[in-house]
Amino acid sequence: MSVLCPRSRATEVVRIIAHVTHSSEYKTFSLLPLVKAYPNLSRQYGEVSCIAGLTMVDTGQPQWSRIYPVPFRALTEDRQFRKYQPIRMKARKPGNDPRPESRRVDVDSIEITGSQIGTERGWEARRMIVEPAIRESMCELRRAEKENRTSLAIFRPAEMLDLVIEEVEPNPDKGDRAEAWAAQAQLLEPSERQQQRKALEQIPYRFKYHYRCSDANCTTHTQSIVDWEIVQLYRQVRHRDNWKA
Ligand SMILES: [Zn+2]
Repeated sequence: MSVLCPRSRATEVVRIIAHVTHSSEYKTFSLLPLVKAYPNLSRQYGEVSCIAGLTMVDTGQPQWSRIYPVPFRALTEDRQFRKYQPIRMKARKPGNDPRPESRRVDVDSIEITGSQIGTERGWEARRMIVEPAIRESMCELRRAEKENRTSLAIFRPAEMLDLVIEEVEPNPDKGDRAEAWAAQAQLLEPSERQQQRKALEQIPYRFKYHYRCSDANCTTHTQSIVDWEIVQLYRQVRHRDNWKA
């Protein structure tokens, strides 16, 4: 599973150019959000997330889409969708991201169109939606990526080998931007600002899975985990001793 967001600084530059040269139209499209990546900071939009999910198309085969930028915390209450809750919005192909799943969303057009799909009977309803989208293996996804830049997929690893936790150097520029952005968010209450800053604090670890997929010739894969939940999990356990164990 990969839900990589565009790198914010490079994106800013490209976006300005894209603005002038690109004229792809906004179209209405529906999405069932499944994955919310940990937010990053955009100079233009503040704290933004990538959301990945499935869109039902005429063929009956669900298709992956990635929408960006979603300033999740800044969304009005009626737009704060949850995972597995269907939404509709206007979005267009971005001029600066060639991956076929990527869509630039018009945030003000986001509409919640149904209630969240529940987890009853061992996630039965969710599984019925997700299972048709399961790819054979990560090796297969890598081949599709070479062919047409496919960049999102879901699959079952054949064998989990390890959860890798790496220490990373904090990026001072990113920290300054978090501070600067939180400080200028004058509309927020002081307690909210503090919460905001805490949410944007840098996490000094990178989490990766090392696994073997079901391809017969698989030589194993190592992948970063970018889902929001792993970060939340880290926050909950980091004060315990031996939390890496
Ligand atoms: Zn493989």
